[in-house]
Amino acid sequence: MVVTDTTRSLFIGLGNMGRPMASRYAQGREVFVFDQSPEARKATAEQSGATPLESLDTLPENIKVVILMLPNSRIVEAVLRESPGLLSRLNPGSMIIDMSSSEPKSTTALAHEAAQLGIHYVDAPVSGGVARAVTGELAIMAGGSDQAVEAARPLLEAMGTGVVHVGPSGTGHAAKALNNLLSATNIAAAAEIICAAASAGIAPHVMVDVINNSTGRSQATEVKYPKHILTGAFDSGFAMDLMLKDLKIARQIFEANAVEAPVVLTAQTVAENLREKLDSAAPDHTELVRHYEQANGVLIRDPRP
Ligand code: NAD
Repeated sequence: MVVTDTTRSLFIGLGNMGRPMASRYAQGREVFVFDQSPEARKATAEQSGATPLESLDTLPENIKVVILMLPNSRIVEAVLRESPGLLSRLNPGSMIIDMSSSEPKSTTALAHEAAQLGIHYVDAPVSGGVARAVTGELAIMAGGSDQAVEAARPLLEAMGTGVVHVGPSGTGHAAKALNNLLSATNIAAAAEIICAAASAGIAPHVMVDVINNSTGRSQATEVKYPKHILTGAFDSGFAMDLMLKDLKIARQIFEANAVEAPVVLTAQTVAENLREKLDSAAPDHTELVRHYEQANGVLIRDPRP
């Protein structure tokens, strides 16, 4: 299978992540873009030079690669299977790359259906958030056959710097959910430490500096706390509801395999309980710290002076 840079592609899902990713992917390629939101289509086309599609009813001829960056598996399944889905309209030899954070079980089933139609299927979710989507430095974890992942690799490298072939179909999506459970745990664990530090007379920004100079540091303390939490901005661009979806997928992996996990699954419980109490329609995932603020009467908003 040869997928060259001149391959005609269709990129679907142009939200916080999809827009900058499609813009990078479209450089030097013939790319069509689609989102159910007309504003997203227009903005992405203006930013990237890609051609916007008004709907998926009529596909441009000879699309070889379809990239998906959609909210969840139900929507991925609808786009691929329903009314009529893309699976039944793509030519054998074409490739679908699902870069959304989807459910491994759904991915495995879709990949199986695609294989029966002679269509290659790669799950290639990403990590790094909007900032690294903009710079094209996303971490990408790919699941699929050796042949399909190697064919997808040069396409993925337009959007990321580290493409890891995790294993067969669905393992990219499993790895993504597990990573995000650890990431959420790191936010929660740091909030607990910062609250305890405050009660010992240490200001939040000082404690974050100490952690980042020491062995407790993580991406949460190095990036999320200074930029999105201590500032009170809560503007990472990754919605709490999307994080909750990931944590649910991760919990299913633990439960299905009876893996003992007294630490990480607590973050999921805390986040689920907090979400029920938050008024905001679309809180940012970094607002997880609000649970600890409310429980401990400590404000974790203390930008570096
Ligand atoms: P988003 O909500 O900003 O964007 C999703 C886009 O999909 C929206 O523009 C929406 O209009 C579009 N859409 C929904 N249903 C559609 C349909 N049926 N047809 C066409 N378009 C449709 O979400 P996002 O933050 O860009 O996240 C996208 C995916 O990437 C999710 O699976 C998320 O979990 C994952 N992810 C997000 C981040 C992040 O930092 N935001 C990081 C890594 C992974």
